[in-house]
Amino acid sequence: MTGNKISDNDFALAIHGGAGTILRSKMTREREADYHGGLRRALEAGRIVLADGGSALDAASAAVMALEDEPLFNAGRGAVYTSAGTQEMDAAVMDGRDRSAGAVAGICGPRNPVLAARAVMEHSGHVILIGESALQFCRRQGLAFEEPTYFYTEQRWNALQETLAIRESGADDQDESRKHGTVGAVARDRHGNLAAATSTGGMTAKSPGRVGDSPVIGAGTWADNETCAISATGHGEIFIRYAAAHEIASRMRYAGQSLEEAARAVVIDMLAPAGGSGGVIAVDQAGNVSLPFNCSGMYRGVVRGDGRLLTAIYDEPLIDFRNA
Ligand code: ASP
Repeated sequence: MTGNKISDNDFALAIHGGAGTILRSKMTREREADYHGGLRRALEAGRIVLADGGSALDAASAAVMALEDEPLFNAGRGAVYTSAGTQEMDAAVMDGRDRSAGAVAGICGPRNPVLAARAVMEHSGHVILIGESALQFCRRQGLAFEEPTYFYTEQRWNALQETLAIRESGADDQDESRKHGTVGAVARDRHGNLAAATSTGGMTAKSPGRVGDSPVIGAGTWADNETCAISATGHGEIFIRYAAAHEIASRMRYAGQSLEEAARAVVIDMLAPAGGSGGVIAVDQAGNVSLPFNCSGMYRGVVRGDGRLLTAIYDEPLIDFRNA
């Protein structure tokens, strides 16, 4: 899906809440409504910032915070579990104005991992901090922490048990819906600046210590005013090996491809054949938006200056769910 170019002082915000095997047959109307509701709240959180003339970076952070607070999505509250039954979260932010970036990996404690990533970008002098040292840094920065019970959800815990049982039985685990998820936002503000933010619990039953694509700048997260802002969701190992987000930017920069051409080429023609199921959300400086995915669904949404909160789940057009 492509959005249209916007006027110079308009804005565009796109979000995702993960991609994977999302089947209508396994959904209820109530659950669909919950997802649309969660996406709408996140769009609105970012929209308020952008409508006020705020920065793309603040808007992307605000939208991701709202998604992290929402237990339906695999980030912050509601993060998935490692094979050891722990939660290890990854997050990143990138500012398209000067390519400043910050990320955290393998952390559990800060209520909003995206704010931890932002603190790394703004106050550490580094790009990525991991594990216990990242947590110490977050404490020194005065970030809000939560107890493990805050992050627990029965659904994610059960998903771990099912995945481990299937592994133990030696069967092929086909159901990707249990494994996937991540949240992200990309924005173009009224001043023409781009930013991206991504946050995830990673993949269900991952090894402790495993780091996915989300906090790897150029793989799951990217922003550069000259090309685009990208947040990815999907099988992180493949997204890292194909430098997915940076590959989209490179196609725009060196091959003159449009945002839509570049994003589709990477998601459909490159990642899918390599086993990289998932998708990206992308925005460029003209306010074009592209939301390609190569699996059955991706929780996603877009808002522009007209304030319409447009969301979708499956391979379907974006809708204003309030009027649906
Ligand atoms: N990309 C995330 C990771 O590999 C998971 C996902 O988006 O589904 O950690």
